[in-house]
Amino acid sequence: MIKRIGVLTSGGDAPGMNAAIRSVVRTCLHHQLETIGIRRGYAGLINDETVSLSGRSVSGIINRGGTILETARCDEFLTEEGQRKAKDAIRYHKIDALVIIGGDGTYRGAIQLWERWGVPCVCIPATIDNDLNGTDITIGADTAINTALEATDKIRDTATSMERVFVVEVMGRKSGYIAMQVALAGGAEEVLVPEREYDLEDMCHDICEGASRGKRSWIIIVAEGAAKAVDIADKITEITGLDTRVAVLGHIQRGGSPTAYDRILATRLGVEAVELLVNGDSGKAVGIRDGWVVSTDLHVAVKKKDQTRDVDYFYKLMKDVT
Ligand code: ATP
Repeated sequence: MIKRIGVLTSGGDAPGMNAAIRSVVRTCLHHQLETIGIRRGYAGLINDETVSLSGRSVSGIINRGGTILETARCDEFLTEEGQRKAKDAIRYHKIDALVIIGGDGTYRGAIQLWERWGVPCVCIPATIDNDLNGTDITIGADTAINTALEATDKIRDTATSMERVFVVEVMGRKSGYIAMQVALAGGAEEVLVPEREYDLEDMCHDICEGASRGKRSWIIIVAEGAAKAVDIADKITEITGLDTRVAVLGHIQRGGSPTAYDRILATRLGVEAVELLVNGDSGKAVGIRDGWVVSTDLHVAVKKKDQTRDVDYFYKLMKDVT
């Protein structure tokens, strides 16, 4: 019988983490369970940084970016000694199970806690990169895309006023998901993603051909995992002779108020995570597939997501309408 659930956010922060925390706490209340918040992810477990979460303590946070519990990357948790300290803190606080919110590294930590130390865990996918198996989309990705899109739209306004090539670098680590979606929604002329080989000479040839037809501006979206925008811009200037500018959007993509989609996704997944634990399930990640909430074994969920088919489809779509 579970009486007390711990909740933590770990890895990179993502908009919608607060909505997930709120959902977990309120669902626990619904089941008459106590919720203990653990600050700064696995680091907070090791250093015993806990806070009791009431229904009221999570009011007014559904619309806020970041995470009220804060998050961290913690190398000590990779060691046996670090994990032992974490387990001792869990025992000390009489925490029966954990809801763990984060990305693939965070999932790997949860596998350790469950399989090595016997702590029941369910994970919620929250990372702007959308690189996790077991869910069609992760919490935070939709907001990051909309933030990057808004910035790209503004860049387009200035690009069209002068003859210029703008190279816009977006986040996503090894995933090109954000880049591809922003390119499509922003009407970009080209996109470079890590999942797809690109030919700069070909791209520059297309740009020159466009220029000869009177085209005056170009937006090239570059995923951070594919190349550095500044290197691509230098090459474009060298080959085409056109004026090129670079915009690296950086951390603004992690911030801001979560979109309605992310808030609703986080709310649905938070409820499901607690329901699974209440029903005696563990070692799972919750997610969304074809619009339905699902759960997946954590070992499957951490495997690299194969995005090749999606990337090929979206790339063709983008080129067809350019
Ligand atoms: P994001 O995708 O947003 O970066 P993430 O969860 O993948 O989020 P990581 O920094 O990779 O972020 O992982 C978060 C934390 O999870 C690490 O700092 C570490 O404490 C723990 N962790 C990562 N890999 C492992 C592992 N193999 N075993 C145990 N713990 C791990």
